[in-house]
Amino acid sequence: MEIILGKTAGFCTGITLALDKTNKELDKSDKVECLGDLLHNDQVLEKLKNKGLVVINDIKEAKQKVIIRAHGVKKDVYDYAKENGIELVDCTCPKVLRVHNLAEELSKKGYYVVLFGERKHAEVLGTFSFCKQGEIIENLDELKQRIDYLNKQEKVAVITQTTYNLQKFSEIEKYLKENLTTENEVYNSICNATENRQKETEEIAKQVDYMIIIGGKKSSNTNKLYEISKKYCKKAIKIETVQELYNEDLKNINKIGVMAGASTPKESIDEVIKYLKERD
Ligand code: SF4
Repeated sequence: MEIILGKTAGFCTGITLALDKTNKELDKSDKVECLGDLLHNDQVLEKLKNKGLVVINDIKEAKQKVIIRAHGVKKDVYDYAKENGIELVDCTCPKVLRVHNLAEELSKKGYYVVLFGERKHAEVLGTFSFCKQGEIIENLDELKQRIDYLNKQEKVAVITQTTYNLQKFSEIEKYLKENLTTENEVYNSICNATENRQKETEEIAKQVDYMIIIGGKKSSNTNKLYEISKKYCKKAIKIETVQELYNEDLKNINKIGVMAGASTPKESIDEVIKYLKERD
């Protein structure tokens, strides 16, 4: 059995930075609060909780110092912390911060900002809070329903969630070129780590009989890798831990592809590779 492991599998720079900063805080203190789960991986999160990380769900629950995770937060969290003397350890990924700044800048210039992404995702809610006027659109179907309204706006700017599906955004860009008639600016703000990982997933999925995506159940970028795999490979599975492979029928599989989301630690990837080699 041949195994192809994606070169881009595992932690991205944003998650690595957030973990480094959090571990440094945990070395200094035996209890550190974090607003929301630091990352979407239960195994890593559990280890951090054992070291003293306490997850709070509202900034109003904060006692003193609070970690802001890589996804970023809404603008009012910064305002509340400032007004109430709460120290923030800001681990927002620099690439997410860039999108926040872009949203704010475009909004100030009077653009009606359309943000493509998952309406309930923390990153999307954070970015959208920097827009004075605009809306969140999830996909091309929704865009088609909103296009007449958008064309009534004086000027429209389009941005994306950093983990948006690259191929779906290409279809959106094409549709906008043909149908958005008002003054507009379109920005692909998908981060390069996401872009490269999605491209590599597609390449691998096209050449294997079976595709394994490793990542947290709540991880948005992992779910997109799974969507891509299902499109290009006849058999694809999304797992969080190696145990989920134990009952999989791998008979007649000659070539397996392995990819992992941005919050998946190296240990989880290594365990899967070791298991596949042993089962061969
Ligand atoms: S996926 Fe991209 S934007 Fe998100 S944390 Fe990682 S590097 Fe940053």
